[in-house]
Amino acid sequence: MEIKDISLEAQTAVVTGGGSGIGKAIALEFARAGANVALAGRRLSLLQETAREIKALGRSALCVSTDVSQKESVDNLVQNVINEFGTIDILVNAAGVVGSGEKKSLLVKISEEAWDKVIDIDLKGCFLCAAAASQVMIEHKRGNIINISSIAGFITWDTGGVYNIAKAGVNMLTRLLARQLARYNIRVNAINPGMIKTPMTEPVWSNAEMTQRWNDFIPLGHLGEPGDISRVALFLASDTGRHITGHMLVVDGGQILQDKYGL
Ligand code: NAD
Repeated sequence: MEIKDISLEAQTAVVTGGGSGIGKAIALEFARAGANVALAGRRLSLLQETAREIKALGRSALCVSTDVSQKESVDNLVQNVINEFGTIDILVNAAGVVGSGEKKSLLVKISEEAWDKVIDIDLKGCFLCAAAASQVMIEHKRGNIINISSIAGFITWDTGGVYNIAKAGVNMLTRLLARQLARYNIRVNAINPGMIKTPMTEPVWSNAEMTQRWNDFIPLGHLGEPGDISRVALFLASDTGRHITGHMLVVDGGQILQDKYGL
């Protein structure tokens, strides 16, 4: 499916996590709409593959190896983008991890390191990128920030953890930034996906039985695709969504409507 009438012609977008999954889909969606895209992430080879696909669409792409949890690294990203493109019109914060790798049945049993890892990447990373990119946007009195949050920021489940807390933080960060940056003509929104088929959720969709359980659980009857998120991101990033700010848009096939979250 392709959106043909929404244009981001001549705009510069920065997409963190642009080497895979949702970030990659958004980077390509924006490039198809006319944007030049800077890709930030930890795995340069993945970023370079996305960049190749963007260039094949006739747009410019820049890859900057970045750890979003480190201020120096994020400042370096923004400097590189300014040097290459001169501005930042759109920032998409898609980099994230679903957990620290530490499996504990209770939140109170997790280590301080596990807490820090998830909060630093998923929450502080969004803050650092928004803080650095918004300096340019404030100066130019225009900008658009999209945080890829999660329905995990709204709900609990038995094995829930720091991820839920980080994403709840991303939702509030979105609302606060939206309120404070509106005066500079900068819109800030979040997309809150449900279960989407990406490398992050491979343990689910690579297992037929588990996929079936999820398909039965999701009211619309199937897992989401990265394109389901990228098309919404394009709508929010473009003038089609020009009166929307501080919104948390749930894209989950109705998953959040389930009254009994038995996961
Ligand atoms: P993914 O694993 O494909 O993408 C995450 C990306 O973030 C990867 O490219 C990874 O290299 C990058 N990354 C991780 N740590 C980083 C760091 N410190 N600095 C820079 N980059 C880093 O998974 P995805 O599903 O595409 O996830 C994208 C976003 O969507 C995440 O924020 C995730 O929490 C969110 N999300 C995903 C789902 C889902 O079901 N897939 C649901 C809700 C929300």
